[in-house]
Amino acid sequence: MSRRDVLKGTLGAIGLALTGRRAVAEGASSESAIERFVLPKSEWRKRLAPEAYAVLFEEGTERARTSPLEQEKRPGTFVCAACMLPLFESSTKFESGTGWPSFFRAIEGRVATKLDLKLILPRTEYHCARCGGHQGHVFDDGPPPTGLRYCNNGVALRFVPEGEPLPALVGS
Ligand SMILES: [Zn+2]
Repeated sequence: MSRRDVLKGTLGAIGLALTGRRAVAEGASSESAIERFVLPKSEWRKRLAPEAYAVLFEEGTERARTSPLEQEKRPGTFVCAACMLPLFESSTKFESGTGWPSFFRAIEGRVATKLDLKLILPRTEYHCARCGGHQGHVFDDGPPPTGLRYCNNGVALRFVPEGEPLPALVGS
């Protein structure tokens, strides 16, 4: 085990502790009936491209207007790029003008949220309910019928056009 791994492990433990505190501070984190699929970050790092890993498991943010999925307009399903769980249907995608793929509704039970206090204004982070991979932040300035705007990192999603089979869930 290298010193870097030790450091990463320590930071991970601190992150977990903070996550727990945040969930308490928020009152409750959203629960989900999805069966969790948990892998160590080191394993995800091996399996994913570096830019996908940075967003999904280090809560990074891709640069705006860098994802081809922002302009994706075909009917289909957006699945978690880590574990392949379907998270969004194309019918809930809308043009937000932000430079990130945006949705007004997630498939029920497929994302979970937590309070993110990294910036001055608290934001609501959301992640795949199955693998925990970070997807983006949800805001309350979206269009009807929900008024929500799920602002998603494109690199954390994979698009499956209608008529093509959904990929098998990773680890199932
Ligand atoms: Zn996932």
